[in-house]
Amino acid sequence: MVNYQNLVKKQRHFFRTNTTKNISFRIDALQRLRTMIKDHEEDLLASLKSDLNKSEFDAYSTEIGVVLEEIRFTLSHIRAWMKPKKAKTPMTHIGSSGYIYSEPYGVSLIIAPWNYPFQLAIAPLIGAISAGNCAIIKPSELTPRTSEILARLIHETYSEEYIAVVLGGVETSQALLQEKVDYIFFTGSVPVGKTIMEAAAKNLTPVTLELGGKSPCIVHKDANIKLASKRIAWGKFTNAGQTCIAPDYLYLHQDIKEEFFHHLKDAIKELYGVDPLENDAFTRIVSEKHFNRLSSFLHDGEIIVGGRTKYETLTIEPTVLTNITWQDAIMEDEIFGPILPVLEYQDLSFMLEGIHHHPHPLSLYLFSENADIQQKVLNDVSFGGGCINDTVYHFASPYLPFGGVGNSGIGAYHGKGSFDTFSHRKSVLKQTTLFDIPFRYPNVKNGLKKIKMFLK
Ligand code: NAD
Repeated sequence: MVNYQNLVKKQRHFFRTNTTKNISFRIDALQRLRTMIKDHEEDLLASLKSDLNKSEFDAYSTEIGVVLEEIRFTLSHIRAWMKPKKAKTPMTHIGSSGYIYSEPYGVSLIIAPWNYPFQLAIAPLIGAISAGNCAIIKPSELTPRTSEILARLIHETYSEEYIAVVLGGVETSQALLQEKVDYIFFTGSVPVGKTIMEAAAKNLTPVTLELGGKSPCIVHKDANIKLASKRIAWGKFTNAGQTCIAPDYLYLHQDIKEEFFHHLKDAIKELYGVDPLENDAFTRIVSEKHFNRLSSFLHDGEIIVGGRTKYETLTIEPTVLTNITWQDAIMEDEIFGPILPVLEYQDLSFMLEGIHHHPHPLSLYLFSENADIQQKVLNDVSFGGGCINDTVYHFASPYLPFGGVGNSGIGAYHGKGSFDTFSHRKSVLKQTTLFDIPFRYPNVKNGLKKIKMFLK
């Protein structure tokens, strides 16, 4: 196993110079990141096409544009975020003042998955830089061209003692986890998330775990059906369903079933064409293993849309399955592909029980025009984040911290959330020396009586 001790040591040494804490240094690093991305947009689009057959539109909007926007947002707020925040002081602390300093952890390790291989490596990096950390990025081995170009560009843009990319698979990741770093930011699957936390526990290293799971999408009988079907088709089939926050399955009210399917079929045709297998802009499945896993689900329930696959290009067309129950294989784990199973319900509480029998989802989507129904669902189910009357869109707001809860993850990021995630909040009391309140000392006369006046 390769040893990454030297790399971590080099970064720690650089961190100790306090260079990365300097505001101009952070701003310059973010600006350089932006220039790097803009100057190599074509290369990045080509690598994403080669790894996953992402169209230019998808690759730009979900991988490149979204991180450029995150950099722009961060640059316009970083000065304010970095300022120490003044805190209130209680009566007992008269004469003193309180401050909260956001300080970087030090050397951060960012481990990224393959489904948005550029965005999910760079978005956490923006947080790491803005908070003043050094960073080591371990991108996914399943998207080799994007990971290679990422390594090359980062190498050309930053010194290794500040930001480095380490290429490799599971063993590389494990070797990196042997080293003591100061923060671990992991995006990936639930089982691997547990391994990461175990490794982090050995050194008490704080972690953010951005994981996955089965995210429900509920379509109630009073929904705007046409709009719901289009927004669901988009959220589910973008990136061929290989999105952690894609609606995993649908809970559809029985009364609107026929009308909903009618519109859903139209929406899929409108967005992905009559023959998505021949649509050059439709993302492929990342590997043969995942292609085979997903293809096996096509035997569950009844296919009412799609169902065809093309092995040569590893594509599966947008597919909708009905007559599904929780006992079907497709309902066991996160699907992570362009297959949408549909469960039906009549009674809202009964349907919510179905969701409760499973771990807290990363996302939940509810389509309903009724404020009471919306409130009931929001109040009843714990989930990472989500939308009312939309899918996936919450992800792109820098004002909404993004993350999971329970099995779907720990911690959150995006916008100020990223800065906060990569910062320790150091609370400091600045005390006056002009006077000294005597009550805290044990030798004060009637000390207990007096202290009880303040601490009651
Ligand atoms: P994965 O967990 O298999 O791999 C993620 C990263 O961890 C890769 O870099 C991989 O090399 C590394 N890794 C794999 N096994 C490891 C091990 N045993 N020890 C240490 N490192 C290991 O995930 P994936 O297949 O790349 O991505 C898909 C999963 O990621 C899905 O579950 C999806 O929901 C989740 N995901 C979550 C988010 C989010 O923001 N919450 C975003 C995208 C993907």
